[in-house]
Amino acid sequence: MAIIGIDLGTTNSLAACWRDGRLELIPGEDGEVLFPSAVGYVEGEGFLVGAAAKERLLTHPDDTVASFKCFMGTAKEYSLGGRAYTPMELSAMVLERLRRNAERVLQEEIEEAIVTVPAYFNDRQRSDTKKAAQVAGLKVERLINEPSAAALAYRMAAGQEDRTLIVFDFGGGTLDLSYVECFENVIEIVAVAGDNHLGGDDIDRAIQSYFCRENGLVEERLPLEELARIRHLAEQCKCALASGGRADMELTVGGKACRAPLTEDILFELCMPLFGKMKQLFLHLLEDADSRVSRIDDLVMVGGSSRLGVVKRFLSELLGKEPVVLDETDRVVALGAGIYAGIRRRGEEIRDMLLTDVCPFTLGIGIRNRSGQDKNVLSPMIERNSTLPASCRNRFVTTGDYQREILVKIYQGEEYYVDDNVYLGEVAIEVALKPAGQAWVDVQFTYDINGILHVSVENEMGERRQILLANQALSAEELERYTKEMEKIMLPPIEQPENREMLARFLAYFEESTGERRERIGAMIGSITQGLCSGRKKAVRNAWETARAWLSILEESRETKEERLFDGRVSYDWYEEEGWDDEDESRDGGKEDWDSKDENRNDSEEGCDSGREPERRERESGQREEDCENRE
Ligand code: AMP
Repeated sequence: MAIIGIDLGTTNSLAACWRDGRLELIPGEDGEVLFPSAVGYVEGEGFLVGAAAKERLLTHPDDTVASFKCFMGTAKEYSLGGRAYTPMELSAMVLERLRRNAERVLQEEIEEAIVTVPAYFNDRQRSDTKKAAQVAGLKVERLINEPSAAALAYRMAAGQEDRTLIVFDFGGGTLDLSYVECFENVIEIVAVAGDNHLGGDDIDRAIQSYFCRENGLVEERLPLEELARIRHLAEQCKCALASGGRADMELTVGGKACRAPLTEDILFELCMPLFGKMKQLFLHLLEDADSRVSRIDDLVMVGGSSRLGVVKRFLSELLGKEPVVLDETDRVVALGAGIYAGIRRRGEEIRDMLLTDVCPFTLGIGIRNRSGQDKNVLSPMIERNSTLPASCRNRFVTTGDYQREILVKIYQGEEYYVDDNVYLGEVAIEVALKPAGQAWVDVQFTYDINGILHVSVENEMGERRQILLANQALSAEELERYTKEMEKIMLPPIEQPENREMLARFLAYFEESTGERRERIGAMIGSITQGLCSGRKKAVRNAWETARAWLSILEESRETKEERLFDGRVSYDWYEEEGWDDEDESRDGGKEDWDSKDENRNDSEEGCDSGREPERRERESGQREEDCENRE
C-alpha cells in the first residue's frame, strides 16, 4: 500500500509520492497538481471541491468557501446548503479528493498519508487536521511541519554540505519561520516562530482597502459580491506585480468606474504593518535559536506569497543577504512530504534522513498565583522550541494545610495566566496529609515526535497517576504501545545507560588523577554533561564525539604510563592477547596528544550550547518546588 505526502494548504493543496525511485506530484483529473482548497455547494447538484469551487467564489460567495484552514481548530462554522460545516469537515472534503486522485493515478488503495501543517499550529489545530484525514479515509502516519518539509526538499536539492538556514514559508494565510541546522544526514529544526493570521490574504485585504479609500468607497457598506470582486482584482494585481513594474486597478463598482494605480512602491508602503510583524517574528526566532543573522547561510523562501518582489526586497534589507527563492516555491512543501513518505516506505533510492523537530509551544501546568490573585498561572514544563522528543520532571508542593488531593491541570501556550492558554486535560492524585508546603508530587511531562503528551504524577507514597493527551482517539493497543515508547523517551540523554557508563569512566579517570590533569578532566566532564543535558541533537552528538576522542586519549596515556611503570613488558603481553595492533604508533604519543587536544576541548564547549543549559539541567533534576493547584 502506498503512502502519500499531502500539503494541505490554505489556498491550494497538493499530493506527492515516491514511485519507481522518483518523486512525483500527483495531478488531478484536469492535469493540474495545484488543487484549490475551496468547497462550494450547488442546489440540486451537491458539493464542488477544488477548481470548480474556486471559480464560483466570485459569482456565488455565499455558497462557496475558501481559506478555512485559517480557522482550523476553532469553533467557526461555514453555512453551505443549509447546514453548518466546520473547517475540519471542509478540509476532510479536500483531503478525500486528493486521496481519490492519488488512487486513480497510482492504481492502488491509499490508506496512509504524511500531512503537513504550519509549524505554529497548536494542538487543537493539529488534532483537527488528523481528524480531517481520518474522515477522508486516511491514517496520518505523521504530521510534519511545513517548513520542515521544505527544508527536507531543499536539502535533497541543494546537496549535503553542513548549512544553517531560515525557511521563510509565506502562504495565503500563514507565515512560518524555521531556524534549521543541516549536518550529515540530520535536519534539525532548532526553533520556529510564526503567525497563523499573516499571509498573502492580508496583502489582498490591504490592497482592497487602499482601492476603496482611493475611490471613496466605504467597505462596510459594500455588498459581499462587490467586495469579493474587489478582492479578486486586488489578488490579480498583486500577482501581476510580483516581478516589479505596475498594475493599475480598474473596476466598475455600483455603476461607478473606479481606478487606482498599484506600483511596487505603493505596495511596499501598504505592506509596512505586515513587515513590522515579520521583523518581530525574526527577532523571536533568532532569540529562541540563540543565534544571529550573521550565522545564517541561506534564507529559503517558500509558499505562494514568497514570489512577491516587495517581500524579497524587505527581507534582503532586513537581513543583508539575498534570499533564495526555490523554483517550485508553492510545491516545495508537498515535495518534502513526498520525500518523507518515501523515507517511511524505505525507498532505497532516498538517503535515510533524520528530521528532528521542536515543540512549537510551551506545555505546562497551572499553579497558585503567589501574589494572592485568584487567577492561576502557568508553570512551564516543556518550553517552546524544545527538541522532540522532550521530557521534564519537576516537584510541586501543596498550598493548603492537610490538603487531601492535588489537581494537576495541563495547559499549552505562552501566556502568564492559565486561562489565556489552551487547556489540555488534568490528573488528580492524593497526597500525604501534611501542613501546607510539606506534601509534594513529582510531575513528569514527556512529549513525543507525534505530538502525544504523556503526563505522569507521582506522590511521596510512590503512587502514580498518568494521562496520555493524544491528538486523536487511540485504541487500547496503541495506548499501551505509546506508553511503552514513552517510558524509553522519559530518560533524557544524560540518564541513558550508555551515557551514564561513559561519564562513569571519566569520573574514574578524575578520581585517579591529580593536579592539572585532574582539573582538565573535571572541565571536560562539565562540558560533556552540558552537551548531554542541552536536549539538542547536535550538542548531544558533539558531546559524544568529544567524549569518545578524549576517552581514547586518556586510555592511551594510561597505557603509556603502564608501559613505563612495567618496563614495557606486562602491558604488551596483555594487549597482544586482546588483538593489539603493534603497528599503532599513537601509543607513544599519549602525552603529546593530550596537550594538542586542548583546543578541541574549548571547541566542544562552545558546541554544547551553554546558553540554554543551566535552566534545562535544573528542570531535569526535578528539584524545583512550586505550589500546585489544589483540592482541599
Ligand atoms: P500558498 O498558501 O502557499 O498556496 O500561497 C497562496 C498565496 O500565494 C495567495 O495569497 C496567493 O495570492 C499568493 N500567490 C500565488 N501566486 C503568486 C504570485 N505570482 N505573486 C504573488 N503572490 C502569489
